Amino acid sequence: MASATVGTIDIVAWFVYLFSAVMFVVGLHFMNSPKTARKGNQISAFGMVVAVLMAFIVLFAKGFVNTVAVVVLVVGILIGAVAGVVSAKKVKMTDMPQLVSVFNTVGGGAAALVALNDILTKEGVPDLVVLITAGLGILIGSVTFTGSLIAAGKLQGVKWVKKLTLPGKGVWNIVFIVLTVASFVMLCVQPGQRLLWSILTTLFALGYGLVFVIPIGGADMPVVISVLNACTGTAVAMSGLAIDNVALIVAGALVGSAGVTLSILMAQAMNRPLLSVLAGGFGGSDTAAAGDGPEGTMKETSPDDLAVQLVYADKVIFVPGFGLAQAQAQRELADLGELLKNHGVEVSYAIHPVAGRMPGHMNVLLAEANVPYEELVDLEEINPQFPSANVALVVGANDVTNPAARRPGTPVSGMPILDVDKAQNVVVMKRGRGTGYAGIQNELYFEDNTQMLFGDAKKSLQAVIAAVKELLA
Ligand code: NDP
Repeated sequence: MASATVGTIDIVAWFVYLFSAVMFVVGLHFMNSPKTARKGNQISAFGMVVAVLMAFIVLFAKGFVNTVAVVVLVVGILIGAVAGVVSAKKVKMTDMPQLVSVFNTVGGGAAALVALNDILTKEGVPDLVVLITAGLGILIGSVTFTGSLIAAGKLQGVKWVKKLTLPGKGVWNIVFIVLTVASFVMLCVQPGQRLLWSILTTLFALGYGLVFVIPIGGADMPVVISVLNACTGTAVAMSGLAIDNVALIVAGALVGSAGVTLSILMAQAMNRPLLSVLAGGFGGSDTAAAGDGPEGTMKETSPDDLAVQLVYADKVIFVPGFGLAQAQAQRELADLGELLKNHGVEVSYAIHPVAGRMPGHMNVLLAEANVPYEELVDLEEINPQFPSANVALVVGANDVTNPAARRPGTPVSGMPILDVDKAQNVVVMKRGRGTGYAGIQNELYFEDNTQMLFGDAKKSLQAVIAAVKELLA
């Protein structure tokens, strides 16, 4: 009777997990467009709730839980749910990458723990498939845990994390890769010693996560976050294979494959070879940022002067960056664009692939302000247009416009930039003389054809809109 119940519950669980997996895929499909992304999130979240409830039912039906386990499970779920809801509701859009990084930390750590538990508590000697899948779950999950923790600290601007350095980074990377892989191989060939080898694999992989991310700084963090995101998914899929849970396998595979695709696209956009990202052998460190700054003075302008330049222009290119998101000035920028277009000025928005703090940040922001999609122009397409632009208006963008990227030896070297300096006139809106994410001064601000409009982007844009309206009245 008991085994009949177990057999039935396994079959029911399999179908329910499959249903959850389908919900993840459908949800992801809806995330293709900003218009349906919210719905996509809700569908995926529903799939996840169903999977968690099913896991609970399976535990009870199989008699795996005692009172202590129930208390631990309920308290754990409550803490996780409250922390998730509060952080997702409270976090600012501009801080979202740190939150994603923290979620990667938790996801990678959880996947490693599930795999570790599976290997250590299996009755008898686990077979090779379990050893490989669970071993990979431990390895990848542990790398993701420490790597994402450091990435979150760097993105949050935690001073001591940003200051961390690693002399001889290449050597440490190789040492930890060799030690981690060797322990993993030993785990597979000596399953009798699995306690020792799985603990060593965990420790060395945790160490590799640190030496992998600590040296990376400058403008290269987007590729790293994307790689770590792919690692979280892969670790979850491996743990799912080890414990034979279809929902985990599909959810992990989706995150893993989406993360790999994004990593490849980001690496191409940033002109970085992906393989050297994985070896940790690229990118300027945060401390390398404090090099010699450009010399000269910055020329200031006023909202009235800028309004005159814009109204008499034939072609204007807007260049949005992280500061636009920080100021929440997307609606004002869109309004200014509408005013100019109605006056007969050609307006377009130059979109750099890593402008902002997450992939697609500017697209989402401008879509929210109803900027028509066809006015958003990618880097390759917009760059040849800058020389014919009368005005390039840079709103809170810095690193993605820095001509220093064209020279070797700077933290942004090699990164493709928007050729803003080639426009006939450049006006930069920012609050002060501070640097961007990579921590270096922007040579653009000292060029002859560049003027600065200091102040919060939202307030500056409101003042420019008022001045344009007055001119057109
Ligand atoms: P940057 O961070 O280089 O520059 C943003 C600029 O906005 C700053 O110089 C700041 O100057 C200004 N600013 C901030 N707040 C305001 C405000 N309220 N009003 C007006 N200006 C403001 O941003 P970019 O978009 O140019 O470049 C993105 C950088 O972030 C790149 O280095 C990229 O590699 C990195 N990154 C990107 C990720 C992605 O996936 N897109 C993820 C992680 C990092 P001031 O303080 O003087 O106002």
